[in-house]
Amino acid sequence: MGAFILAVVTMAGAAAPVVPIAPLDPAEPFVPEGRPLEGLVITLDAGHGGHAHQAGYAGSARGINTRVVEGDINLLVAAQLRWHLQMAGATVHMTRWDDRRVTLNPPDRATVRAEELGARLALAEATRSHLFLSLHHNSSPRRTAHGVMILIWPTDKAGRPQPLEVAFADLLREEVEKTVPTAERFSHYVVDHPLASASDIPSAVVEYGFLSNPDFDAWVVTPGAHRKEAIGTYNAIVRMWTEHRAGLEELRTRLFPDSTPVTPAPPRDEFAAIFRSLWPAGTPVATAADANRLLSLWRATRLSDATNFHVRTAVTRRDDGTWVLDGAASHPLLREAAARLLAAAGCTPLENQIRQLPAPELGEARWGITRVPFALTWGEPREHVDVQTSLLLGEPVHLLDIAAGGDYYLVQGIDGYTGWVRRDAVRRMTREEFDGWRARPRARLLRDVMVDDFRLPVGAVLPAEPAADQPGMARVLIPAPVRATGMTTQTLVPMEALTMERGAAAGVLAAEAARTFLGAPYVFGGRSVQGVDCSGLNSAAWSAAGITIPRDARQQVMAGELVAPWSHRGALRPGDLVFFLDETGKVFHTGIAMGGGVILHSSPPEVHLTSIEPGHPHYSEFWATRYAFSRRIVP
Ligand SMILES: [Zn+2]
Repeated sequence: MGAFILAVVTMAGAAAPVVPIAPLDPAEPFVPEGRPLEGLVITLDAGHGGHAHQAGYAGSARGINTRVVEGDINLLVAAQLRWHLQMAGATVHMTRWDDRRVTLNPPDRATVRAEELGARLALAEATRSHLFLSLHHNSSPRRTAHGVMILIWPTDKAGRPQPLEVAFADLLREEVEKTVPTAERFSHYVVDHPLASASDIPSAVVEYGFLSNPDFDAWVVTPGAHRKEAIGTYNAIVRMWTEHRAGLEELRTRLFPDSTPVTPAPPRDEFAAIFRSLWPAGTPVATAADANRLLSLWRATRLSDATNFHVRTAVTRRDDGTWVLDGAASHPLLREAAARLLAAAGCTPLENQIRQLPAPELGEARWGITRVPFALTWGEPREHVDVQTSLLLGEPVHLLDIAAGGDYYLVQGIDGYTGWVRRDAVRRMTREEFDGWRARPRARLLRDVMVDDFRLPVGAVLPAEPAADQPGMARVLIPAPVRATGMTTQTLVPMEALTMERGAAAGVLAAEAARTFLGAPYVFGGRSVQGVDCSGLNSAAWSAAGITIPRDARQQVMAGELVAPWSHRGALRPGDLVFFLDETGKVFHTGIAMGGGVILHSSPPEVHLTSIEPGHPHYSEFWATRYAFSRRIVP
């Protein structure tokens, strides 16, 4: 009978959908090496914005064929460049993050050009910036015009020359020309443009190319073009800071006598900070009871939602003073985090004896399906101790531990809860059997259905398909043979008593929508292709698929059902939400699965692809070790 299930499920488990993605070129985001820009303060201005929906000064350029809007691509480049600069240690100020004028006038009040442009430079003055750079794309009645142009006004208010501004312009042109297509070379263009002349801060306007040129227009809308413009600009700024730092610092001190040099912040000791936030100041952690209290405070307040994990800790202290940390954890980072927190609290020397779950004693059959109609789970491997939840017939569980001579399993269900359950409640499976079971078309019971005296409970999810030979009936699989079905693993259920699951289609739709964000810059709070943060990408993608999920990662950790905890990583379907842990045990990042172990996620500098499967071209050890679990929105 078991063989029947195995034969069917192995077949059904084969075809997992994958959302195809045309890669960016280059496919990996640009990440600066080292921190060559430490100390630099720069203001970036994404030119234009707000034209289409606000009365205002002259509109931005449009692509001659593509009709791309200049203000939109300026913002893309600025948001991307901002991250490169910040990762390299610079302090970056942005005149705008979204589609707007910078001046704050009523929507029907026209803004004059000088007022709007002045507001942009005013930010550079207010932030005591070393440099001001306004990002633009050009336009000309001469359609063959094709090249990078830099606008400057290298004369200060007292009429003295500004050699630093000339140097900045030359470096910008030289470096940007290496990353964008050009056919002509323009020397820097000296013009009394308000963006270049209204301040004595070295200021330049970069025009990356002519949207009036059909070749450049076609190039600038290719995926990742904004990234190339940003990289060229980044390289110019690094050279400017490397070659002219002393001059820029001297000028800044002269222009803003009250300014102080920017010194890099020392690296933060996260565990020391957590300890200080949890423990009364000046009180030592002196006893095992103190240490246990500290760890329970950490679990209660720092873990985003402990429901998705199993962490149990117990500290004792030997006569020789050694601290001993016992317990069990379902993720290696949680195991380490508990020990590091104790070390930050001064509990040394410390032996970390926390067991890593799943327990090796479980062997290969570390998965299971609930085989009884319903079964309560407990906080301890004993009856009626600290009730947790109930498992329903057919519910998949991940086995984590085994106790009491093999009579109880610690399991994690689809709601993320962990609890101990009697061994006879679960049919154990290998990974292959388990994945096959879950990949089958499934139905949900709309009411309790009795098969003789065996109950199929309302809400249970079981593999099912319409019975071709029995109109109006569905053939439903149960996890293990029972007396009521004549010791078989299938039974017939009226179609009106169940509803078939929608399957992978909704997740594929969400993943397709997410794919359109590839290469979009990371912007905290953003939910658009002009800039998006990690959980914003998930929520926008699922909104496109017709489902509203919570906005923030800390809320999304409870959406849908748990499908792939750390011990089952890789079992992902397009649209699954994927979560990552930081070293302190907190969920700090999320992304969306594309299928085939590939995750699309917004992490500075941009939305990109990562694989947690070793050997994949996008494999990242950083993300693979931080993988926590995944949740499926539409099962
Ligand atoms: Zn412009």
